[in-house]
Amino acid sequence: MNGPHTVIPFGGWTISREGVPQAPPDGYTMECRICKKDSGLRFDSEGACDWAATHVDQNPTHTAFHEALGRYWRAIRK
Ligand SMILES: [Zn+2]
Repeated sequence: MNGPHTVIPFGGWTISREGVPQAPPDGYTMECRICKKDSGLRFDSEGACDWAATHVDQNPTHTAFHEALGRYWRAIRK
């Protein structure tokens, strides 16, 4: 798993996690694998899980989900 200091040099570019204080926070999205509805961007994994719990309560056969983690990266030419 890539950490916040991962640096990938390629073609004169360095790709690294955006570490400045004003960078957007990491986000989480939970998607139902049955109907493809999703939680929208949440800023904590518990919020995404809360959405999944509400979704399965309303749709008892929708029991499979996919969690996606969104993290911000920045390209800098060296
Ligand atoms: Zn669903």
